[in-house]
Amino acid sequence: MSDGLPSAALFEGVVGQDDAVAALRAAAVNPVHAYLLRGPEGNGGLAAAYGFAAALLCPEGGCGVCATCRGALAGTDPDLHIVRRSGASLTKETMRQVVALAQRRPLAAARQVIVVQEMHLVLDRAPVLLKTLEEPPGQTVFILLADELTPDLTTIASRCAEVVFPPVPRDVIARWLEASGVPADMAAVVAESSGGNLARARVMVDDPDVAARVALWASVPDELAASGAAVVQLTQRVLESADRAVEPLRVAHGREIETLTEAAKEMGERGLPARKEIADQHQREERRFRTDALRAGLGVLARTYRTRVTGAAARGAIALGDQDVRAASDAVGLITEVAQALPRNPNEALLLQSLFTRLAALAA
Ligand SMILES: [Zn+2]
Repeated sequence: MSDGLPSAALFEGVVGQDDAVAALRAAAVNPVHAYLLRGPEGNGGLAAAYGFAAALLCPEGGCGVCATCRGALAGTDPDLHIVRRSGASLTKETMRQVVALAQRRPLAAARQVIVVQEMHLVLDRAPVLLKTLEEPPGQTVFILLADELTPDLTTIASRCAEVVFPPVPRDVIARWLEASGVPADMAAVVAESSGGNLARARVMVDDPDVAARVALWASVPDELAASGAAVVQLTQRVLESADRAVEPLRVAHGREIETLTEAAKEMGERGLPARKEIADQHQREERRFRTDALRAGLGVLARTYRTRVTGAAARGAIALGDQDVRAASDAVGLITEVAQALPRNPNEALLLQSLFTRLAALAA
């Protein structure tokens, strides 16, 4: 640690988040009282929180080898508190426990660290924590994790130093999958459709439909070149394929609800409102997953247009005119626009149909 920063080894489990890790290592030297680590589960925020906590608790500022560092990484250090929701959201009771924890003195280290997971599920209970964040007890550092910045979280976020965990770059995910034994071609396809999320990539490795979905999107230019009439049918096929992509997630959600229903039978109707909140959360996740699947498809399509030009030129197979290059780059431009519009446009079918129509016109 000649540079005075915590050991990089503490962040070994964080994949493809160099900027966030650099920010946390720098912050550990002279920490403020609260951090908000923002990014979907699977982007590395939780692993980074453990590494950061180790750096804050270690008597040597994060050596990476002492008992404190190892305990913090394993989540067993007595001065590291991990708070998770017990129901569908972070309840008022849970938030009160967090406030009480913050008043305690550290047992062994110079400070204590409280990690709160899924702060985006704090709903209207954020104010319970606000006062503690504004006038923090001297020895407590908060590490709050959130998938996204919800309106309920805005005030809390303004009291925290924020560190963003963006989607992990595609090539990083592909290399990571290969290193864990996934064949190279499969790793590339999964990385392509993962939306930059490692947890999702890990699930997708087992999904036989992934390769077919990528092939479908890659076939769009040829289908459109063959017949402009393919537009409607193609739109339908890519939308159906996005539906199938969400299916495994729907099944997992269904199982979760079933388990809760069983539990409610045993414990009484107290479980009912929680189930409603969970179902809403599931629906949001499924919508986002579906949009991500479509955007991943559009990414495949854009790359297909790009490689058609560069690939053909490299092979010397065809003499490319300026016009071909321009058409391909126009196509990529159109696709990028649609990918950006997709999350806020409720009519996916119309959006895709209009894109395919314009792409077909470019090919003509
Ligand atoms: Zn240490």
